[in-house]
Amino acid sequence: MSVSPARLNAISAANNFRVTSTLAFKESHSAALYGQNVFNEKVMQARLPKGVFKALKKTIDTGAPLDSAIADIVATTIKDWALERGATHYAHIFQPLTGHTAEKHDSFLEPDGKGGAIAEFSGKQLTQGEPDASSFPSGGMRATFEARGYTVWDVSSPCYLIENANGVTLCIPTAFVSWTGDVLDTKTPILRSMKALDEQARRILKLFGHTNIPFCAATAGPEQEYFLIDRNFFLARPDLLSAGRTLFGARPPKGQEFEDQYFGVIPDRVLAYMHECEAELYKLGVPVKTRHNEVAPSQYELAPIYETANIAADHQQLIMTTLKRVARKYGMECLLHEKPFAGVNGSGKHLNWSLGNGAQGNLLEPGNTPHENLQFLVFCAAVIRAVHKHAGLLRATVASASNDHRLGANEAPPAIISVYLGEQFADIFEQLKKGKAKSSKKGGLLHLGVDVLPPLAKDAGDRNRTSPFAFTGNKFEFRAVASNQSIGGPLAALNTIVTESLDYVATKLEKAVKTKKLEDAVGELLTEIVTEHGTVIFNGNGYSEEWHKEAEFKRGLPNLRTTVDAASVIAAKTTVAAYEKYGILTKRELEARRDIVLEQYCKVINVEANIVTEMVRTKYLPAAIRYQTELATNVAALKAAGMQPDAKLLTQVSDLIAAAQNGVAKLEEIRSKHITDLQAEAEHYCHSVLPQLLAIRKSIDALEGLIPDANWPVPTYEEILFIK
Ligand code: ADP
Ligand code: MG
Repeated sequence: MSVSPARLNAISAANNFRVTSTLAFKESHSAALYGQNVFNEKVMQARLPKGVFKALKKTIDTGAPLDSAIADIVATTIKDWALERGATHYAHIFQPLTGHTAEKHDSFLEPDGKGGAIAEFSGKQLTQGEPDASSFPSGGMRATFEARGYTVWDVSSPCYLIENANGVTLCIPTAFVSWTGDVLDTKTPILRSMKALDEQARRILKLFGHTNIPFCAATAGPEQEYFLIDRNFFLARPDLLSAGRTLFGARPPKGQEFEDQYFGVIPDRVLAYMHECEAELYKLGVPVKTRHNEVAPSQYELAPIYETANIAADHQQLIMTTLKRVARKYGMECLLHEKPFAGVNGSGKHLNWSLGNGAQGNLLEPGNTPHENLQFLVFCAAVIRAVHKHAGLLRATVASASNDHRLGANEAPPAIISVYLGEQFADIFEQLKKGKAKSSKKGGLLHLGVDVLPPLAKDAGDRNRTSPFAFTGNKFEFRAVASNQSIGGPLAALNTIVTESLDYVATKLEKAVKTKKLEDAVGELLTEIVTEHGTVIFNGNGYSEEWHKEAEFKRGLPNLRTTVDAASVIAAKTTVAAYEKYGILTKRELEARRDIVLEQYCKVINVEANIVTEMVRTKYLPAAIRYQTELATNVAALKAAGMQPDAKLLTQVSDLIAAAQNGVAKLEEIRSKHITDLQAEAEHYCHSVLPQLLAIRKSIDALEGLIPDANWPVPTYEEILFIK
């Protein structure tokens, strides 16, 4: 370990940390906090005139247009509610294609013309805003001078208050479009795809004889993984500060090999932090449920209860900002990067997905005898077909420079998208391939041999950790989603491709039932789908080399290893066909999204190359050269004293210094290449720049093992990951 001030500060921060209770948890139950800062249905009903509430509710539930007179009344009511709670400003919150949240604040106050001011808030201000659209990624759809953009209130996602030590802001969830009507955000495609999904799901439910069919909403429950480190370390590492991940760092003596971190006891400081995050999220009506230590040292997870997909996506953004914001109060930094540290696990966001409504329930609920549950099998088969047809697209929706470090490495799901069904369903689908399914494997009871432990109800199948797309009981879990990304892209893609599949299935069945029994029509259709798309089902080990060969060469599943391999699928013919058919996004918008992914990819690696160059020149080389001089002086002195010194260490250090210097020179040369085509530029970053960053890292990490501890210029992995 080095004796850098960062280390000393972090040790004392961790050591001196005392939980000074910020939450009056003994006086007020957390249930009292829940939804406190949300303009939710309960508040609406209590405060709005009956007719207005009814009209608003209709808009929320069915997407009916909102009358401007109604909007004015709603605006005044929201304003009064917010002002009572100390609000001074309102902000339209939107999710541009940066993947992060953007917000434009305006004060409620307007001069009254008599030297004073009054709080004003009209229906128009509630429903429409006009931020400058030119400074957000548009993938070339907007020139810099074409600035006009609009934010539009998403009535289905409730307004909420964000508290700060010095004031309160009313936040209004909005969609974001350009003056020309091009979609510039992640929310609009979710909303559109949910509507399309509902229409197709409804057709299937009708076939099964249902008459009362409320809106079939996609549901989402995203599990968030993150790292939490002492902020002293974060500030002492330019790579963490500017790139969100370490670009250097030798393996620590101990990593995660003891497997003692996963579900381990949560450190005091971290647990206090979690409590406060949860309290903040409760106030915002975010239903956070689960918390635990994750596999890597200093890695944790938080998971909410699932919600309607659109709201889950908004809440997911709030979870990320809350995790980051609260960490500061505890002297820590929350890292949402997918791979902040080499050699230990990275972070992902398992996106649990299903669809359903209040009358028919969760449409992916198999029941006790799934082989007889034809309706369930139809929905399940439609998902399998969709994933098989659009495996490349799903991979592309999670593509980024940072997620590339995770996918394909031996920890996260592989880049090949396959579906895990579990023993019970794999068996049913095997039966379907040959004709009708006649039985379902049962779970049974597990007897533990002592009477104090009651018999355990056992699931019908084990779990699989390596599958990127797994059926987990009554939902699918898309595990390749990145920890730092908005779930909007993957969600809209899932909704859209399943919509397309349900449409296909409904059309076939509607025709078939004219001449045969529904049961027979479904049987034939299921057999057809399993035969054509069953190759995407894989229940084995997704990490194994054999699987990679089999998937690619025998089954023809795409293996898109990097972002540059995957990005083009975002605007591929198959994608455009599906997105245009259901009015989700146009070809032009999809091409823009593809370009943004590639642009971001280039930018990220470009910044990393800047940091590598800077850190080598201003931190590592000066330290290494100082030591080299010391060694050289020592060798010279020993020689002068008539001894024959062993100069091996000097040679070793000198060689590594030379390697690092040459590495940086070569990096410069590589970066000087001028490329105008975006795809080619991204490939250059992927295949030339990135490997060179790794080559430089190798020499520096080797120097870390040789240079005196006290001279090492930055905190080490050991310190960052284990001082808590
Ligand atoms: P697991 O242990 O398999 O990950 P959990 O029950 O802990 O399963 O659920 C993980 C996540 O899946 C939670 O966020 C949960 O709310 C979500 N989830 C459960 N049911 C659904 C559903 N029908 N639709 C979407 N997400 C769901
Ligand atoms: Mg899970």
